[in-house]
Amino acid sequence: MSAASSRHIVIVGAGVAGLTAAALLAHHGYRVSLFEKQSVPGGRAAAMTWDGFTFDLGPTLLFMPDVYREAFARWGGDFDREVPMLRLRPNYRLNYADGKNLVISSLLSETMRSLEAFAPGSSDGFLRYFADAADAYQRSRRLFVGERIRSFAHFLSPERIAALFSTGAFRHLGAQALRSFGDPRVAGAFSFQSMYLGMSPFDAPLLYRLLLFTELGEGIFFPLGGIGALPRALDRAARSNGAQIHYDTEIAEVERSGERVVAVRTGGGERIECDAIVLNADLPYAYDRLLGDPEHRSLRMRHTPSALLVYAALEERYDDLLHHEFLMPSDLRRTCTDIFERGRIPEDPAIYLCAPGASDPRMAPPGKEALYLLVPAPSLEGVVDWAGKRDAIVDRALRIVEERRLPGLRSRIRWVRSRTPLEFQNELSLNRGSAFGLSHDVFQIGPMRPDNRHAKLKNCYFAGASTRPATGLPLVTLGAMQSVERICEELG
Ligand SMILES: Cc1cc2nc3c(=O)[nH]c(=O)nc-3n(C[C@H](O)[C@H](O)[C@H](O)COP(=O)(O)OP(=O)(O)OC[C@H]3O[C@@H](n4cnc5c(N)ncnc54)[C@H](O)[C@@H]3O)c2cc1C
Repeated sequence: MSAASSRHIVIVGAGVAGLTAAALLAHHGYRVSLFEKQSVPGGRAAAMTWDGFTFDLGPTLLFMPDVYREAFARWGGDFDREVPMLRLRPNYRLNYADGKNLVISSLLSETMRSLEAFAPGSSDGFLRYFADAADAYQRSRRLFVGERIRSFAHFLSPERIAALFSTGAFRHLGAQALRSFGDPRVAGAFSFQSMYLGMSPFDAPLLYRLLLFTELGEGIFFPLGGIGALPRALDRAARSNGAQIHYDTEIAEVERSGERVVAVRTGGGERIECDAIVLNADLPYAYDRLLGDPEHRSLRMRHTPSALLVYAALEERYDDLLHHEFLMPSDLRRTCTDIFERGRIPEDPAIYLCAPGASDPRMAPPGKEALYLLVPAPSLEGVVDWAGKRDAIVDRALRIVEERRLPGLRSRIRWVRSRTPLEFQNELSLNRGSAFGLSHDVFQIGPMRPDNRHAKLKNCYFAGASTRPATGLPLVTLGAMQSVERICEELG
């Protein structure tokens, strides 16, 4: 028996990071037991099929497929075979209140043509802006997220310090986009992507221009059957490498002795001994509720806002609706101020629509659509009465979509379900109902983001959105690989 196979590692949470860690650790020969309180894999990235309509409950855009290829290859898997995908073309359509629209495609000539028709002259600055986004992506990938950050001193190499300045870590994305394009609508079109990280473009570092490159340079992908195909494939990989996975099992307590975690206790009272633990449950919640440390600094750090999600089963699909579309507000800055500063749902919200039937008709019964709406909204730190006003808030979002983009929408709806910050908090254990975890402002990334190991408990590791390197499916996958590398180094 190898040293690894005599060691038992408990993982708490079957999010994408938890499942990736389970597959890798099991592949390295550890005895792995994963406990997930929900009944399905994926956490935020879980999918559900109700009444023949399949909804990805959270993420809908798959970026950076090479990261998953690398993860799967590490246990001898083949990501492209396990999770067949389409590359979308175009990527999405942005709809403006005046009825105009902008089609964004990773075929750049298509984007430039649409841009020229939308705001003549604005395609001139586009290639330069895009080239800078590509540069920010390449440098950040290599220097900021591609490698485990061991310490502050390790992070602050001369090359990294230079890259922090050259990629724009200390300048604002929204301001630079406005300088580059002049037209605030075009500036919004090429800076709103920071909202994928839960950040206002007016507050986000220019560095996050890199997101434009991930979607335009590399592309937006759609796994056939939906994003849920990814956690399902990870679940299969973890099991086939020998991990034991227990759904519907909440971990209520982490037991320690001196500087070590020695066991976990399930909600049902069962005690499970372990040699190390990986907490995939979101980090601030894990410190507060599982490790009994409500004073941990992560609980005082800035959290991202949240979202209202609406899942609508439509009796009839809209033939002209692209897989991904956005309703852009007439004043993006005011919309962001409402969410990020005033803590309320904007009068004129930004709304993202996802109609996966456009790419894969099996996502709904024939001729029907599993329509998903995402409205960026404040977390439970805001002033919204989610419990009392949920129905009214959902109805207003549907009305806006009906008026601006999908005539007759409400008459096509068979049923509607929704998810608010309350469910993010109560069902997914996200502190304050913050959908994306800890914020990614410049003081909360790199070595300032909570480490992937507890400072005192030497066998307590983290993997997921609020530890290093960052949120988003590819980055939590990278983070899980880095946590596993560290466990293998330290545990032997
Ligand atoms: C609405 C929304 C849209 C998004 N869109 C995109 C997108 O398009 N593309 C993209 O790349 N990213 C997107 N993201 C971000 C992405 O979903 C997350 O970064 C990623 O899924 C986080 O994964 P994770 O493994 O860190 O944690 P999670 O998915 O949060 O998993 C943690 C798991 O731990 C479980 N858990 C918690 N406490 C316990 C306990 N005590 N016992 C047992 N289990 C427990 C939870 O139930 C959960 O399943 C989106 C996120 C949201 C919310």
